[in-house]
Order: sequence, then structure tokens, then C-alpha cells
Amino acid sequence: MQDVGVGLYPSMSLLNHSCDPNCVIIFEGYQLLLRSVREIQIGEELTVSYIESLMPTSERQKQLKRQYCFECDCCLCQDQEKDAKKLAGEEPAWKEVKDAVNEVKYPKSKEEWEKVLAKCQHLLSSHKSRLPDTNIYQLKLLDCAMDACINLEAWEQALCYGSRTLGPYRLYYPDFHPLRAVQLMRVGKLQYSQGMLPQALETLKQAYDIMKVTHGTDHSLMQALMDLKEQCEAIMKIH
Ligand SMILES: [Zn+2]
Repeated sequence: MQDVGVGLYPSMSLLNHSCDPNCVIIFEGYQLLLRSVREIQIGEELTVSYIESLMPTSERQKQLKRQYCFECDCCLCQDQEKDAKKLAGEEPAWKEVKDAVNEVKYPKSKEEWEKVLAKCQHLLSSHKSRLPDTNIYQLKLLDCAMDACINLEAWEQALCYGSRTLGPYRLYYPDFHPLRAVQLMRVGKLQYSQGMLPQALETLKQAYDIMKVTHGTDHSLMQALMDLKEQCEAIMKIH
């Protein structure tokens, strides 16, 4: 998730931050929906994450301080349990990848996407044994390569990169997280495009199980997901 804009939603600004929140905010057009992602006790405070929770603790703390002027002391910030995994691998390698990923702005033309993809491919092959896919910058690089391939309609290669992200997404977003649901849907769609129907159906089912909590069954994305799942099932029935 990138910071692309700011909207004014007065009632939502009453919610406090946690890096491990009990609610998420979902867009439906210009509308914001607040949805709970776990059981909430009576009297318990509702929280959302103001920032991308994937970042390691020190980065999250820095961003919260800079943008919102406070220090977070949520459970994730206290135990810092996943930080070592997030920064696994050789430091010079992930620092190079971090800079490269941050440099990618919003490519518009085919040529720009081709350049992005070439850069990603170069980094992925040169850092092959130096960075695991669980390193968050490597993960962002895989995501970026997947986006580039989708924009260049290189579906098979997009699926290759996308599949590699699913394990790390499960690790960092183990519960109900909208980003994981969307990623599963994207990979499921790519599997479908490659005729891998049983795999596609399985991936789409996983997306569905998360999305019914994070987005709800009335959300337009959920409708699209259910249509895709039905198409997949219908073709499998014929064959
Ligand atoms: Zn925190």
C-alpha cells in the first residue's frame, strides 16, 4: 500500500492507531467502510492501522512520529517478533532493493513498465541466494515485478512472481487482512488465465474466506470474486 492521497473523513479520524488493529478501513468507490476483523469485547477500543503494517517496527515508529506525532506501544511494537524475518538476508542486498522499489513511481507507458520489469528481473537474479522472499523489500520487489508483468500482459510470468508472494503474505498477514485477500484474488485470477482451474479455485476460496470478513459479501470486489469462482466451477463441471 502506498501513500497516494489524503481524504477527509471526520468520523473515521476518531479511530486510534494500532499496528495490529481490530478493524480495517475499506474503500467502496468514494465511500469508506469500517469493518471489524476480529472479535471485539464490549468497551474495547476500536483501532485501525494508519500506516502499512508490513514495515519493521523502527520504520513504522519513524513514520508514525513524522506523520502523526506519536509513539506506538501496541503489542507488535513491543515484541518486535517478526522484525528479524522482515529484514532477513544480506543487508547491502536488501538496501539496494529497498531503494530500487522506492524509486518506482507510477509507470504509465508500456516502455516505462518494461524498464521497471527489467530492473526487477536484474535484482531478483543478482540477489538470488542473498535474500529470502520473506524479506519485505524482496517481497515488494516481487509485487512490483508482478504488477509490471500484469501491465505488460505477461500472465505466466506474473503468476510466477505472484505465487512466490503468497507464503510471505500468509506469514505477515496471518489473520483477516484485506491486502492478503486481494493478493490471493490476483493470483487466483492468473491461475485461471493459465487454465490451472483446480489451483485457481483453491486460491479463490482462500481469498473468499478472508474477503467475506474484510470486505463483506456486498462489496463490489467480493461480487467480482464470486463471479470468477462461479466461472471456474462451471468450466470444471463441463470438463
Ligand atoms: Zn505499533
